[in-house]
Amino acid sequence: MTTVRVPAKVNLQLGVGPVRDDGYHDLVNVFHAVSLFDEVTATPAPTLTITVEGPAGVPTGPDNLAARAALLLASHAGVEPRVALHIRKDIPVAGGMAGGSADAAAALVACDALWETGLSRETLLGLGARIGSDVPFALLGGTAVGLGRGERLTSLEAAGEFHWVFGYADGGLSTPAVYAECDRLRAHEPVPWPVVSDDLMAALKTGDPVALGRALQNDLQPAALSLRPSLAAALEAGTAAGAVGALVSGSGPTCAFLASSASHASSLASALSDTAHFASVRQARGPVLGAVVV
Ligand code: ATP
Repeated sequence: MTTVRVPAKVNLQLGVGPVRDDGYHDLVNVFHAVSLFDEVTATPAPTLTITVEGPAGVPTGPDNLAARAALLLASHAGVEPRVALHIRKDIPVAGGMAGGSADAAAALVACDALWETGLSRETLLGLGARIGSDVPFALLGGTAVGLGRGERLTSLEAAGEFHWVFGYADGGLSTPAVYAECDRLRAHEPVPWPVVSDDLMAALKTGDPVALGRALQNDLQPAALSLRPSLAAALEAGTAAGAVGALVSGSGPTCAFLASSASHASSLASALSDTAHFASVRQARGPVLGAVVV
């Protein structure tokens, strides 16, 4: 039996370029792994099965991203996919924190260990990219820039630790629907090519949370707010409670708030728990490691 712990991500910058001929967008994606974790346990079994512990809405069939990961790894390595995968979910479902991709990354690492296939880091990253553009980052963790569809990754050195508060919403948002809304909102304006933010890079180098808070940027936020108007007041509540940065995480609807210290994050979390904006409020730190066997 092998258990792998894998983190959620928040996008410190999500720059979305014009829609390409293949329907995808060129992205500038600064990923940051935070201490909200799913766990995937792989146990020998006659056939591939998936069980999920935690929130509803996660498929348990072959469309679960962890199942796809196990099948892909088995076929790549030439082994039978004889494994029971048990997913303990703490990352919100359809919350813009890449929970499904995280589970796929964890399943790759867990099955590689269980089946003793001994694949290299590069091979696992390549298999991950075939499952989804957020999967390689869940293997890598830390803070990284992703270009292209988000899958060409370069790790970044970030000074120190950042303290976050996440407001989980009741119900998710579909990532394709948010991209479609983003295209609709920008249909009549020129869409610039996204570039990595210099202010963000400088803030990561110094580890200054106030500078990082000012540099946070998410081009999908207007689309998420358009589909879920209540998010505007939720973000405002965080700013009013003293967050040094507030943004929608990825495609939303999770709201991410940056605090200036661990104790500030505690007080911010308790202030936001007292509002009616969130189904639950969680404190986390980043950056943390990617998928690891525990
Ligand atoms: P991203 O931030 O990568 O756009 P997300 O965090 O918004 O994704 P996920 O939680 O990854 O969204 O899942 C989106 C959908 O994918 C879910 O509604 C579910 O139907 C499907 N899915 C497949 N496998 C999983 C999994 N292991 N965990 C959660 N959702 C999964």
